[in-house]
Amino acid sequence: MSKGLLFVVSGPSGAGKGTICKKLIEKIDIDLSVSMTTRKPRPGEIDGKNYYFVSEEKFIQTINSNGFLEYAKVYGNYYGTPKEVVLKKLEQDRDMVLEIDIQGALKIKESYPKGIFIFILPPSMSELRKRITGRGSETEDDINLRLGETLKEVSYIDKYDYCVVNGEINEAVNRVAAITKAEHSRVSEDIYQLIAKYKEEI
Ligand code: 5GP
Repeated sequence: MSKGLLFVVSGPSGAGKGTICKKLIEKIDIDLSVSMTTRKPRPGEIDGKNYYFVSEEKFIQTINSNGFLEYAKVYGNYYGTPKEVVLKKLEQDRDMVLEIDIQGALKIKESYPKGIFIFILPPSMSELRKRITGRGSETEDDINLRLGETLKEVSYIDKYDYCVVNGEINEAVNRVAAITKAEHSRVSEDIYQLIAKYKEEI
């Protein structure tokens, strides 16, 4: 039985889940999974840190060798969560966080229902437009496509355990950190073992 918990941070593009996860790993003891993608690196992105940037051929090979916990095609590019490293770390009692899109999160929910699913919402659609525009890497058509998708994606929120509105970034990070802490205080099998030990000690 692994004691590490798997947190899945998901939500519409531009809601700020990437920034939240980056700050989360600086704040608490948790590992962020590095995804594999066929997308080209943006300026400043580092292979092996932000993503493993691979060819479509390599990605398909990994699908065929059952190497992903989940994968999805997001806005024309493939993204996937490498399976082995995540499962190994969970077995080693490490908490893991995945920052993935909603299709991917729903797949994890089927294959790993013990995961804890956190939906990140932008404070408003106008703020979301501003954030996506600010990245400067998407065209006007891309931005409109993403905003249209956002409305559809929000309808999946009832599949999630928690929802965090990302208005002020540090407040949002604190909330996600609080969720990770609370999840370690759930009444679980481990607690019954502890209680059994109490009885022996009387
Ligand atoms: P970006 O290209 O902006 O880095 O990411 C685009 C979208 O892909 C984001 O919503 C991001 O969360 C998602 N994404 C990143 N890695 C993965 C992954 O491994 N699996 C899935 N399903 N989505 C991912």
